[in-house]
Amino acid sequence: MLPSIEKLLTLQDRDQKLRAILTEIAALPAEKATRNRELKAADDRLEAARTRQREIEVDRKKLEVEVKAKQDQISRYKNQQLETRKNEEFSALRHEIEMAEKVIIELEDRELVLMEEGEALKPALLQAQEAHVAEKKKVESHMASLITRRENLDVRQKDLEANRPSLTEGIDEDLLDRYNRLFKSKNGIVLVTVEHGVCSGCNMQVNMQTVLEVRGEKEIIGCPQCGRILFEPQ
Ligand SMILES: [Zn+2]
Repeated sequence: MLPSIEKLLTLQDRDQKLRAILTEIAALPAEKATRNRELKAADDRLEAARTRQREIEVDRKKLEVEVKAKQDQISRYKNQQLETRKNEEFSALRHEIEMAEKVIIELEDRELVLMEEGEALKPALLQAQEAHVAEKKKVESHMASLITRRENLDVRQKDLEANRPSLTEGIDEDLLDRYNRLFKSKNGIVLVTVEHGVCSGCNMQVNMQTVLEVRGEKEIIGCPQCGRILFEPQ
């Protein structure tokens, strides 16, 4: 194998590792945002359950006040009945009392429905509280692991970057330029084998002349189709 190919293969291996690390680092903020969204969703679920519970309580109180008002009205009608001597007025008041009693029954039915909903909501609220605690714990541990991961990635990135100049030593400058350009444009795959006359980078057939030149190992040969640097598998 050409010594420069050998050097470039080592360089490519490290550069691919570095590239993977940088990709992973770049993905971290999105992951963090996802975790935050999960926590927010759990917050919202809990808050919704709490809000509904408060609403039920408020509505029940309102109904209680309305019942009380109707009961007071009935008392007033009854007093008026005691004071009147007219039969007509007496029956009119009795009718009013019956109407008010009906309204009270309706109000109490509504109150009962609310109380039942309130009871039914209790386990849901408890569940939402527990889910919230669990979600928070999970997110916090994820966040902590993200920080650790970030630190580890930073260390590895620095190591690889610090090590890189020693790996490029002795590589012809033009060749290194060509390699760097290809690394960027070809998704980090620059050096590829040619096997059975096919470039393993673009999977296209290369001509016999090229195959022979690669086999001759006299100079750096690029794939006529994709431009990647070809070498024979050892
Ligand atoms: Zn190719």
